[in-house]
Amino acid sequence: MAFEGLTERLQNAMKRLRGKGKVTEADLRETMREIRLALLEADVNFDVVKDFVKTVRDRASGSAVLEGLNPAQQIVKIVDEELTKTMGEEAVPLNKSDKIPTIIMMAGLQGAGKTTTVGKLANKLKTENNARPLMIAADIYRPAAIDQLVTVGQQIDVPVFELGTNVNPVEIVRQGLAKAAEDHNDYVFIDTAGRLQIDEQLMQELADIKALANPDEILLVIDAMTGQNAVATAEGFDNQLDITGVVLTKLDGDTRGGAALSIRAVTGKPIKFVGQGEKMSDLDVFHPDRMASRILG
Ligand code: GDP
Repeated sequence: MAFEGLTERLQNAMKRLRGKGKVTEADLRETMREIRLALLEADVNFDVVKDFVKTVRDRASGSAVLEGLNPAQQIVKIVDEELTKTMGEEAVPLNKSDKIPTIIMMAGLQGAGKTTTVGKLANKLKTENNARPLMIAADIYRPAAIDQLVTVGQQIDVPVFELGTNVNPVEIVRQGLAKAAEDHNDYVFIDTAGRLQIDEQLMQELADIKALANPDEILLVIDAMTGQNAVATAEGFDNQLDITGVVLTKLDGDTRGGAALSIRAVTGKPIKFVGQGEKMSDLDVFHPDRMASRILG
């Protein structure tokens, strides 16, 4: 289960404070030391941990909290609030253009869940907002990727624009956008190629697609199971593409929590959705406060 180790360790760290009428600075120091270790073990970015621990310690120390009513409860509340803040405070909705179509470009490493997430998002817009999306298959390097998107399209009854694997991706996107204009689609998703890791050719291709499509949203799909690498990947893509948001996938797995807690703080870009399974319905809006509660258990 996601966050299992982190939840247990955070709870243990704070348990020592419970039942104490008065918490000493030494108790607080020890609790913060344990929280720090718990976060580092969960693969939270080092600088994020440092800032987090300092903020919580500053807010909790001093007589107002330590000698006030229910110090343990107050400290738990501070930890909860600061976890929420670290993840961005408020849910951030999908960008929307004033005129149709809203263009959403997806990026991410191979296997992160890009194609699946395109389907999930298109399905969500279709079922919840009566939207009429078009999905463009621009990943020509993995032939199976096009078939996969076509299959997803059939499953959710959303059209897919594809030109096979012999036309270059920028041209596919150009023609796909023309098709969307013709058909008055209100959303266009561009499923781009992934790689095993960030390389220059991939980034150039994504930059070219971005220049042509001028997307309203560039969503980076990140596998939550990849821990610290998830953060490095997010930074790499953001530096090159200036992404507008992140979808964190595989939160149904036993991820330790580092990606969820670090990405916003490191990149400044919001996590907008989380993937929590392989089914088309397994996508949820990311609510930092709910995630903080889930992490605290
Ligand atoms: P892409 O290469 O980035 O397009 O990745 P795919 O969309 O093909 O996904 C790779 C694998 O991850 C597939 O087996 C998906 O079913 C799976 N997957 C995607 N999102 C999730 C998720 O949120 N949870 C789980 N458990 N699996 C996911």
